Amino acid sequence: MQKVLLINTGGTIAMSEDQTTGKVSPSSENPINTQSSFFNQLADITVVDLFNLPSPHMTMETMLTLSKYVEEQAPHYDGIVITHGTDTLEETAYFLELTLELNTAIVMTGAMRSSNEIGSDGLSNLRSAILVASDPASADKGVLVVMNEEIHTATYVTKTHTTNLATFQTPTFGPIGLISKNQVIYFQNVLRREYYPLNIVHKKVGLLKAYAGMDDQLIRTIETAGYKGLVIEGLGAGNMPPVTVEAIRHLIDKGIPVVMVSRSFNGITEDVYDYAGGGKRLRQMGVIYAQGLSGVKARLKLMAILNTPEFINIEQAFHL
Ligand code: ASP
Repeated sequence: MQKVLLINTGGTIAMSEDQTTGKVSPSSENPINTQSSFFNQLADITVVDLFNLPSPHMTMETMLTLSKYVEEQAPHYDGIVITHGTDTLEETAYFLELTLELNTAIVMTGAMRSSNEIGSDGLSNLRSAILVASDPASADKGVLVVMNEEIHTATYVTKTHTTNLATFQTPTFGPIGLISKNQVIYFQNVLRREYYPLNIVHKKVGLLKAYAGMDDQLIRTIETAGYKGLVIEGLGAGNMPPVTVEAIRHLIDKGIPVVMVSRSFNGITEDVYDYAGGGKRLRQMGVIYAQGLSGVKARLKLMAILNTPEFINIEQAFHL
């Protein structure tokens, strides 16, 4: 039998609903731990309740603590399952992807409905995640996110719906595998893995979203607020309103890298347009184009690069 470590960090999967008021909140006893006899038929499972946090309470420090814990425990297990709130699940998953260099299967899951709501998805997501983590084909694939019987990579998955059970999607490329009634099936390979050995997370990176009529004020506060890097979710393939250009140039002149992603959640950024604020000119000015990553993922990657002690060529690191 495969040995699987189940690390609980909180989220709706560990919550229940008050049947009178409808409020959903953390339970003192994690409801998924009551089903251990069922899950122990799937694998030899060790359970650790590391945190009991709603996922908006996750910080760079708690993610680093989780990463270090997984690194320390991984040699003793065939696979690791991490339960997590869904709101920031994709960010913790990608943080782990960036900061761990392991062959062990690492699978994150959560739930959209708490343990006692009708149609609660927690137990079935956990079952799928345990099946994936104990399948030898899941080794060496980086951090995986398993929800609603689909397997996604940490790098490209995103929460696309506030409440729907099919919320986790990989918009541009699709899932890399699925869980059928009893089997784990992969139909895409993971092409690229990255590793940034982080011990500190104190250099801050900001994230701004562009919009029609945006001025330069928020971009100008980045330097004075102590941010060491900026990610912008730009317009379309990576364009900006012309009035923002001088503020972006100022940041680059001050050695604060500016990374461009798209506010469109599908497709990749490219420097295409040669007009004031267009991608061609922004790239010539030194803006880095991150192909395929969302804003929150690019922010984590730039933060990982800036907090890694060795020199890393940021432009190259962001190129697909
Ligand atoms: N707000 C919850 C959280 O992320 C949502 C969930 O777990 O589904 O903690």
